[in-house]
Amino acid sequence: MHTRLTFKYVLTPEGLRGNQTLVINAAGIIETLQPAGGKTDGFFAIPGLPNAHSHAFQRALSGFGETPRGEDSFWSWREAMYRLANRVTPEDMFIIAREAFLEMLRGGFTSVAEFHYLHHMPDGGAGPEMGQAVIEAARAAGIHLVLLPVFYQTGGFNTPARDEQRRFVHHNIEDYCRLLQTLPGVKLGIAPHSLRAVPPRVLAQLVQAVASLSGGKWPMHIHISEQRREVEECRAAFGATPIELLARTLELGPHWNLVHATHATDAELQTVLKQDATIVLCPITEAYLGDGLFAASEFVSQGGRIAVGSDSNCRIDAVEELRWLEYGQRLRLQQRARLTTAAGLGASLWQRACGGGAAALAEPVGAIAPGRRADLLVLDEQASPWLGHDAATLLDAFIIGGSRHDIGAVYVGGRRRVDHGAVSGAEDSANKFAQVVARLN
Ligand SMILES: [Zn+2]
Repeated sequence: MHTRLTFKYVLTPEGLRGNQTLVINAAGIIETLQPAGGKTDGFFAIPGLPNAHSHAFQRALSGFGETPRGEDSFWSWREAMYRLANRVTPEDMFIIAREAFLEMLRGGFTSVAEFHYLHHMPDGGAGPEMGQAVIEAARAAGIHLVLLPVFYQTGGFNTPARDEQRRFVHHNIEDYCRLLQTLPGVKLGIAPHSLRAVPPRVLAQLVQAVASLSGGKWPMHIHISEQRREVEECRAAFGATPIELLARTLELGPHWNLVHATHATDAELQTVLKQDATIVLCPITEAYLGDGLFAASEFVSQGGRIAVGSDSNCRIDAVEELRWLEYGQRLRLQQRARLTTAAGLGASLWQRACGGGAAALAEPVGAIAPGRRADLLVLDEQASPWLGHDAATLLDAFIIGGSRHDIGAVYVGGRRRVDHGAVSGAEDSANKFAQVVARLN
C-alpha cells in the first residue's frame, strides 16, 4: 500500500519544486516524486533535520544550576550532570527520553543519534535496561533512532574512572560487545566517549573488535576538542592535540563523526577534510556550556561536512540550532552571511545540515528524494516570519525569524506525527516528565 502526499512546494536536492506528489511505500520510503495539480496536503515541505548528537537524559537538567558557583564552567556543570545521572532509573530514563524525543519531533528533528552512556543500573550493576528504555522511548514518541552505545573507561587522560562515573564504565571491550548484542531491533553505531575516557591504545582495539559486528558500516562518533582544558591535558599526556592524536591512532573516513571539535587547529581541520570525516556541531549547547566557537565558516568553505545536534537538550529547536550556528560565525568574524551561498542562507544551510546528519546517522534520511525516508516538516503558509515573502526567500526568513511554532505538521516515515505542536498518543508524557524532573532536581 502506498501513501501519497501532495505539497505546493517541496525542497529537493535539485532545488525547490512546485506542486509535487510524494509516493511513499509501506516501509515509509519515498519511491517517486510526481508533478501534481489540485488539492494539497500542505504548503511547503522540507526534510526533517536528523539530530546527530543527543544525550536525552540531560533534558531533565535544563534550566537548573543557573546561579553562579565560584569558577562556574563546563566542569562544574559536569558535576551537576553526574549527580543527576546517578539517580536516573530505567523508568525515569523512559519518561525523560520520551519527552525529549517528542520535543525533537515538535522542534523539527525527525531522527536522532542518541549518544547513550548511562548504561548501568544506579548501583553500577550491568544490564541492558537503560538502553532498552531509550529504545522504547523512541518507539513511543515515533522518532527514528540510531542508538550509539558509548564505550567509556577512564576518568581523564591517564586517570582512572571515579565512582560517579560507574554507570558509564565498561571495564573491558568484551562486556561492551556483549551489550551491543543485547540491543536487537535498533540501528546501532559505536561511540568511544572521548580520548579523555578511552586511551588511544584501547580505542584502536575497540575499533578492531566492533568491526566484526558492524561490518565496518556503523557510524562512529566521538566527543573531541570541546574544552581548552581537554586540549591542554591531551597535549601534556600525549604530546599532541586531540584530533592529531585520533588521526595518529586510526584511519578516519566518512563514517567517523567528530562531535564539537571547537578548539581544532587549522592543521587538524585539514586532517578532517583530507580524511572526509563529519564535524557534529551543537550550537545551543556549546553556548549553554560556554565551550567556544568552531571555525565553521572556514571549514565549510573548504568543502567540510557538518551535522547538527541538540546535545544537552537544554532547548530543542532545529531552526534555532541553525540560527545559532550562523550567528556564532557572524559574531566570531564580525561579518554577515557566513554559511550562505549565492542562493541565500536558508535552503543551503538546512540541506547542508541534513546531508551531514544523514552521513552521521548512516541512514537514508535528510532529503526529499527517491530512496529516502519520508521524514518531512510542512511549514505553515500563514506563519509570520515569511509574510510578504515568496518561496525563494521563505527559508531565509525561517532561519532568521522562525521557530518550531511555524511548523504545521511533522511526518516520520510518511506518517503524520505532529499537528501544530500536538503529538497524538503522548498526552500523559509531559505530566510524568514534570514529576520525574521535580524529584530528580
Ligand atoms: Zn555530547
